[in-house]
Amino acid sequence: MRWILLGPPGAGKGTQAALLTKKFNLPHIATGDLLRQAVREQTPLGLEAKSYIDKGELVPDNLVTNLVKDKLSNIDMEKGFILDGFPRNISQAESLDIFLDNNHKPIDAVIYLATEEQTIIQRLSGRRVCQSCEANFHIKNVPPKKEGICDYCGAKLIQRDDDKPQTIKNRIKIYNQKTKDLIEYYNKKNILKQVSGDLESDKVLALLQNFLKTGR
Ligand SMILES: [Zn+2]
Repeated sequence: MRWILLGPPGAGKGTQAALLTKKFNLPHIATGDLLRQAVREQTPLGLEAKSYIDKGELVPDNLVTNLVKDKLSNIDMEKGFILDGFPRNISQAESLDIFLDNNHKPIDAVIYLATEEQTIIQRLSGRRVCQSCEANFHIKNVPPKKEGICDYCGAKLIQRDDDKPQTIKNRIKIYNQKTKDLIEYYNKKNILKQVSGDLESDKVLALLQNFLKTGR
């Protein structure tokens, strides 16, 4: 089971990746985690990445790709993995394909969690974070015991700028622009599976398990 999860912010990609990797005991490969780990462990790639992060610049595509390849080389690719947040563009997708083909372990499926803008706004705009200890809450799904106050340290909860409706709309627009080609790329390869990200996470998981079993 070698899967890629695609979907806009708020589609539930991270949640599904976590559920699937737990259920099937597979590595969950998220580029954000890989980057943080490499920087923390001061690996050669981590140090290179840090030089960009320190300057406030984006870590270049090929560096991220190399991090992913590094990780894949160190796991049992026969058993499988879930890629979350990678690839982000065609150039990364092509490098990944070359690498996996050379190892005779191609991607089986690319799961695209197609999600309505309204659902995304509802999910993301409800997020609150503690300004002191950074604990996460959600006004509907994980409400604090006392409104606006952190359960753990009693500090005030705030809404990140990223989670304000207008910013969310922009994030979705940028995501869609950037991902259109990628979806087309995998669709042409006949490995794209679209699932509604509007559904509850247990329903999405059930659909994915069914897809795994029946291929539909
Ligand atoms: Zn707190």
